[in-house]
Amino acid sequence: MQRPIDTYTDNFGQTIKFTIPEQHIKLCINISGGADSAMLLLMLINYCETHIPDAELHVITSANPIKGWYNAKWSTSVLDRVLQITGTTLIKSHYTFYSTDQIREEMDEAERVIQKLHGITFTIHGTTQNPPLDVKFDTKNNRFEQRDPGHATPLLVEYDNGINRWMPLIQVDKRMVAHLYNHFNMMEELFPYTRSCEQHAKENMDTPTWMVTHCGECWWCKEREWAFEE
Ligand SMILES: [Zn+2]
Repeated sequence: MQRPIDTYTDNFGQTIKFTIPEQHIKLCINISGGADSAMLLLMLINYCETHIPDAELHVITSANPIKGWYNAKWSTSVLDRVLQITGTTLIKSHYTFYSTDQIREEMDEAERVIQKLHGITFTIHGTTQNPPLDVKFDTKNNRFEQRDPGHATPLLVEYDNGINRWMPLIQVDKRMVAHLYNHFNMMEELFPYTRSCEQHAKENMDTPTWMVTHCGECWWCKEREWAFEE
């Protein structure tokens, strides 16, 4: 029997469908410490608790230099918080690796390690689409490169190594994430435990305190403010 599909639509007409294809039991989710992946983690746990009680969930984090590697700490806080909220026992591991430059190959390699160790066949990423083109943020540092150009990025990629990579948020912007936080009543319960800021480490080498705050000025902070205040 096919597993149920949960559909969510925000106030801007954006829709996502949430489902895990039937054959997959051993799942991996990437969390960054940011709001998008934290929400997906919560949704994944809720979904599995209801529909896949024998699921095994493994969490993976790429600690990256743009976030001063400190997102390793934020993602741990997110996971702890989600464990408190859900009381789940489906999470079997949290694997954190230290990235040299947040590149795709490193993520692929980390997923291969997890796949080998735990037999993962399905991985989930929380990447969202950029805001609409007419939305411009007044930022000191703009983002380094355009994320996910176009809206044609596939939701699901099947690799010949047996892993399916699913990006349920890739065709919606962050306003959908804000919608989901409201929908699941997580604006106070979970959102404050996340951090999206990427104030650049290079400018803050000597002041690690910046890593525990939100600068409020970088592209990512502006995007977050935009989406959650719409
Ligand atoms: Zn920031």
